[in-house]
Amino acid sequence: MNMSDTAAPIAMAAPRARRTRQARIVWGSRVVTVGGDAPVRVQSMTNTDTVDAIGTAIQVKELAQAGSEFVRITVNTPEAAQAVPYIREQLDRMGQDVPLVGDFHYNGHRLLTEFPDCAQALSKYRINPGNVGKGDKRDKQFGQMIEAAMRWDKAVRIGVNWGSLDQELLAQLMDANGRRGTPWDARQVMYEALITSAIESARRAEAMGLSGDQIILSCKVSGVQDLIAVYRELARRCDYALHLGLTEAGMGTKGIVASSTALSILLQEGIGDTIRVSLTPQPGEARTQEVVVASEILQSLGMRAFVPSVTACPGCGRTTSTTFQELAKQIDDYLRAQMPVWRKQYPGVERLKVAVMGCIVNGPGESKHADIGISLPGTGEAPAAPVFIDGEKAMTLRGDDIAREFQTVVEDYIARRFGGTSGAITQN
Ligand code: SF4
Repeated sequence: MNMSDTAAPIAMAAPRARRTRQARIVWGSRVVTVGGDAPVRVQSMTNTDTVDAIGTAIQVKELAQAGSEFVRITVNTPEAAQAVPYIREQLDRMGQDVPLVGDFHYNGHRLLTEFPDCAQALSKYRINPGNVGKGDKRDKQFGQMIEAAMRWDKAVRIGVNWGSLDQELLAQLMDANGRRGTPWDARQVMYEALITSAIESARRAEAMGLSGDQIILSCKVSGVQDLIAVYRELARRCDYALHLGLTEAGMGTKGIVASSTALSILLQEGIGDTIRVSLTPQPGEARTQEVVVASEILQSLGMRAFVPSVTACPGCGRTTSTTFQELAKQIDDYLRAQMPVWRKQYPGVERLKVAVMGCIVNGPGESKHADIGISLPGTGEAPAAPVFIDGEKAMTLRGDDIAREFQTVVEDYIARRFGGTSGAITQN
């Protein structure tokens, strides 16, 4: 078949570029930017009791090592506020310079005022305008938190959540809606309340003197279509950096799919400067799973690279053994486990692509598209596994030790390509 002379090449899809104001997160002499031309950042949150400073510092370290670029911790009591500087100190001792974000509700104005060491040790304050106080106390208490941010040169996230929406604002908008000739649907009024709460709070903070580059906004809801509708409008109405996340996404597959669906659609439209995947951990599941999912969303969209990617076929009746599944998992686990060390030792290794395929049908072809690929023998095929390196067949592995030998091939390749040396890598 001939390609028409008039056919235009098909461009690869890419996320739309959207420029927000860049927010600066400062702690000590370190700065991380969010928004503007900065990459979309991954955030996470601990589920330890903040008063348990050691336990919290350990979990923050685990989340940071998994790839979280900010970690939020609950600051809900005077005891928790007292623990915050100690957590920061522990992290610094462990060589973890990940910024800490304090999550405040109801009493943040008091905690940030009465515990200056806490206010100073945090890098960013999350303020929920729905929980800063009621009536005439609301503006005063919100103002106290903004004053703390200005005093200590901290960024804030004005984080609205539909589970704790400012009820006075919602009532006002509902009343105004009742006076419309054709009232809006209650859900549309709620969208409006979420966005108004975030933007008006940000404008109030700026009016007090907080710089726009210290403000990040979020409006979290738990429905996928609701989230898309709210963030599209929020992005249209302001240029603050936006934190994106489906709140209370749920557990397991449901939570992962819902978050991935909502976040991917918005990220592809250029909406979102930081993301968090709010998964409910399954019993025994590591808290770091939410970081893995968030990173994979960005990596799948081609926006960031965090860990080498392993392409594996789903398997079918042509390969009835589980060897290739085990090898794919083993390689994937191994590459992830090495990343905390490799990130520094082998810059660029996160862009490595490895393929582990089940049989000859797509095995050699897919392996050639990867940096290193292996095509395992399917049922009835000769017991040999060709290995492709940089698109060329480099060797054939045979016998019972293919998994270990393939891992050594991968290690050698990484050391050669990303480390400027040859030979196997010393594991820590
Ligand atoms: S590569 Fe082979 S084993 Fe894997 S899905 Fe395709 S046909 Fe099945």
